[in-house]
Amino acid sequence: MKHYYDILDADYSDSLKTIHKKYKKKARQWHPDMFKESKDKVIAEEKFKEIQNAFSQIKKNKNRSPQFFGNINSDMDFKNFTEKLINKGSILHTIINNAKNIDLKDFFNTFFVHIKKFRYLYDDLFSEEKVEDLIVNINVSLEDIYNKEDKIIELKRIRKCEACYNNDLKYCSICNNKNYLEQNKSFIFNCSDKIIVFSNEGHQEHNKKTGDIILKIQPKIHSNFKLINNYDVYYELFTSTLEPITHSFIYLDKQKMEFKADYPFRKDYIFKDKGLPIPYSDSLGKLIIKIIYNPFTYSESHYTLN
Ligand SMILES: [Zn+2]
Repeated sequence: MKHYYDILDADYSDSLKTIHKKYKKKARQWHPDMFKESKDKVIAEEKFKEIQNAFSQIKKNKNRSPQFFGNINSDMDFKNFTEKLINKGSILHTIINNAKNIDLKDFFNTFFVHIKKFRYLYDDLFSEEKVEDLIVNINVSLEDIYNKEDKIIELKRIRKCEACYNNDLKYCSICNNKNYLEQNKSFIFNCSDKIIVFSNEGHQEHNKKTGDIILKIQPKIHSNFKLINNYDVYYELFTSTLEPITHSFIYLDKQKMEFKADYPFRKDYIFKDKGLPIPYSDSLGKLIIKIIYNPFTYSESHYTLN
């Protein structure tokens, strides 16, 4: 647990609210969008994943007794092990609590020799290799990003069969003795986030750590608005006469917006805090309206030829 706190520069004594603030600061600092070079982006993406995972692990464990971890000063494996058990909502709380008073090395050895039932924990704890992450690119509309809509996506993963993987069954009718199943699960994400990591929710394989699911949210191309600098919305307004303009259009909040400009036109018309939400912050990008003078605008006409 300790290293999760280190990642966020947080202290054990911090409240979840304080940790959340520190997490937001870190996440902003390491957001891949903050880096220009693709080499730096890759590093940032890894770091960003680590930060997200650290916060979700802390959040998961924050409500539990702090001395539960604090008193066990043994090797890291044991700590990880107890965390894993807690994450699985295990009934072994009491065993682990009692373990504080016994020789941990010994406990560790006998535990794994005799309790075959927890075979599935080996993979996540001791495997060096990890299953490849499931990376999902999702295209969402600018409207959905602007309005911070929650969406649900159902994903197919290969998971261990819960009925037979941890038990010795003669025949498992659920997976036909394959020990693995193709399983669907729904995940909720917010369209205004850019990268979302669901730790340990990806594929599972024997002798490998469980993979993660990484959602990458990307904006769809919009027929009226262009996106620049990730969060600024750009709108081009064409005019065929050099006169003051009154123009109304439906904006991303699905409301009618009225725009007026006197002649001579300015280079750009900038509306602060009218662009897309910037992830992990409370700020918004800009709306930029550009008037483009084009005298050659012809009205549409129809001919029917026989
Ligand atoms: Zn099975």
